[in-house]
Amino acid sequence: NRACIGNYEGDDMGHDLSSDTTIWDDAVALDRRHVFHTWHAQRNLHPEEIVGGHGSWLRFADGRDRLDLTSQQVNVNIGYQLPAVIAGIRKQAELLCTIGPDYANLARGRAASLVARRAPEGFDKVFFTNAGADANENAMRAARLVTGRDKIISSYRSYHGNTGSAISATGDWRRKPNDYARGHVHVFTPYLYRSEFSATTEQEECDRALRHLEHVIQFEGPDTIAAVLLESIPGTAGILIPPQDYFRGVREITRRYGILMITDEVMTGFGRTGFWMALDDYGYTPDIITFAKGCNSGYVPAGGVIMSHDVAAHFDDVVFPGGLTYSGHPLAMGAIVAAQEAMESEHIVDNAHDVGEKVLGPRLTALMDGHPKIGEIRGKGVFWAVEMVADRSSRKPLDDATMGAIVRAGHEIGVVIGVHANRIHVTPPCVITPDEAADGVDMLEKALKEAGC
Ligand code: PLP
Repeated sequence: NRACIGNYEGDDMGHDLSSDTTIWDDAVALDRRHVFHTWHAQRNLHPEEIVGGHGSWLRFADGRDRLDLTSQQVNVNIGYQLPAVIAGIRKQAELLCTIGPDYANLARGRAASLVARRAPEGFDKVFFTNAGADANENAMRAARLVTGRDKIISSYRSYHGNTGSAISATGDWRRKPNDYARGHVHVFTPYLYRSEFSATTEQEECDRALRHLEHVIQFEGPDTIAAVLLESIPGTAGILIPPQDYFRGVREITRRYGILMITDEVMTGFGRTGFWMALDDYGYTPDIITFAKGCNSGYVPAGGVIMSHDVAAHFDDVVFPGGLTYSGHPLAMGAIVAAQEAMESEHIVDNAHDVGEKVLGPRLTALMDGHPKIGEIRGKGVFWAVEMVADRSSRKPLDDATMGAIVRAGHEIGVVIGVHANRIHVTPPCVITPDEAADGVDMLEKALKEAGC
């Protein structure tokens, strides 16, 4: 019952904003009055409350379930309310809710061993953080300490988190002028559809992007560069699938100059691309891997840094100056253990792979045939971008008003659609069934039609 108690003056959404005491059970009104929102929501707060969820579905306050094609912040890989994970959190909570980092703890040890198992051979040590941004902070810190060098090279088309060095490493408009910290250098990475290198084939794009990276390294001075930090697949920047040889090329170049390679798997890790780690599909081994979101699907905040043997060994004799009060929090660790076990026993990564190959890939490609405003479809697993354009010849991005209309039409039809600039990101939970995925594409098509595309 969403009704308010007492006087009810109401705003245009029907929410009382006049006094706290009259709105104590109206989530949206209380939220608007007292919550200072994160950047996504400050100008764009959804008018409806979410009251529950199950599997790939979200339940809204209007009583309707809608199919979630976003996984919210692309983090809900195991779907909503997986009973085994709720039980894992409850079990740890009943044992002890808070344990400082100075004590050994079984859940933390088990979580570390399960996470390390997903990295290449020789990555045995996991440093836990509370999220993705601080995972990248600590990865960059480790690279700087190991190499004794200062600069980090990252991509203009990237997002690495909204804290000090992580936002400085981020390359696009989200890095504001006061985030231009020293020690950060950016390069262009492959994006054939809007090539910075005038390339017309994937191989050309790959070769030219690698040559560009090497030139930047040479001009900056190789012995000033600690690490190259790259997302396996740039996510919020557009789900930009790199050419197959790109990372092997980056690995070769970084080795040649004694530079470390950090792979950001925060969005792509733990099944999103149909592989445990997106890097599994590219045949290379970095020095450091960062993760967050999919490790426990955000049931309790957690992230971390997986270090190669050599990087971890550097800190055998010197202290690594990282850690927060809640690093490796037991409830987060309990959630990681239960989520990892469920992903394995329920073959959730295989499901994401199959849904990508058999449903999302073919169905989205077919969708493009009938819609001239779709410029490109790209992706793998449950990680797809539909790039919308005003027309295919100019490739001019479709306007914001139409993109907004697509989201609103989806909400009416019964599907949660995620939009970033001129792209629809189709990133459902990894547990979505083939039938649900097919229905999702049908509903997306309806939403495109209703928005006039
Ligand atoms: N790295 C990547 C690739 C991301 O997509 C994100 C968040 O979207 C982050 C880092 C930051 O993670 P968090 O928001 O958990 O700090």
